[in-house]
Amino acid sequence: MEVKFIGVGEAFDEEYPNTSIQVEAEEGGIEHCILLDCGFTVPPLFWKSCPDGERLDAVWISHFHGDHFFGLPALIARFWQLGRQKPLLVIGLPGVEQIVTQTIGLAYPSVLAKLGYELRFIEMQPGKVLMRAGFVWRSAPNAHSRSDLAVRIDCGGKSLFYSGDGAPTEDSVLLARGADLAVHEAFRMSEPSPGHSTVSKCIDFARSAQVKRLALVHLERNERRRREQIFPMIRAVSELEVFLPEPGDKIRI
Ligand SMILES: [Zn+2]
Ligand SMILES: [Zn+2]
Repeated sequence: MEVKFIGVGEAFDEEYPNTSIQVEAEEGGIEHCILLDCGFTVPPLFWKSCPDGERLDAVWISHFHGDHFFGLPALIARFWQLGRQKPLLVIGLPGVEQIVTQTIGLAYPSVLAKLGYELRFIEMQPGKVLMRAGFVWRSAPNAHSRSDLAVRIDCGGKSLFYSGDGAPTEDSVLLARGADLAVHEAFRMSEPSPGHSTVSKCIDFARSAQVKRLALVHLERNERRRREQIFPMIRAVSELEVFLPEPGDKIRI
């Protein structure tokens, strides 16, 4: 499984694009490509990373905040321009079809009627196990100001957990158990911030869930500027690798 950090930022960071992760895996000779979240600053970076309009199989939307799904109208319209024919799966919370089609309709009112490919929506909820696009998908609620689902995807014996936004919950710790990589939002360093996680909470979460590696993303922009103070916290963790990915970084798990 190859994991590429398209963006690692929060909503309004002038330097770091919104958090979004491209995941590729091969199983049985078939290549699969998915995107976890697609905020408003993501599409140009995704097109640079993946110019082939047919390659993407599915988009996961963790929750309905603009920095996690407002990139969809541009993504979907460009696939239409490119003459895409393969269906695109959009997986998210109940209501995903209505919210996403309304959003596309506001941005480009005529595009949905002329798409040459099918948009297939799948509603996800905790407890549901989905097998799509070469991955096994499971989810759990995270503690955020809007309903948010953390997701775990498994393929070929490897597993990736992605929090979306919000602080860990008992259910998300269970979901992440033993994952090869957990990507978790860490909006603040240590100070409590309602509806968000912190670097300290993420480290506790990763220890409890016994994940092998932890990538911290979605740092609040002023906190990221103080990252020299975060590095000692990260280096003090001995049981697992903790790191702050940069946009464009790729890792194989
Ligand atoms: Zn966000
Ligand atoms: Zn959010």
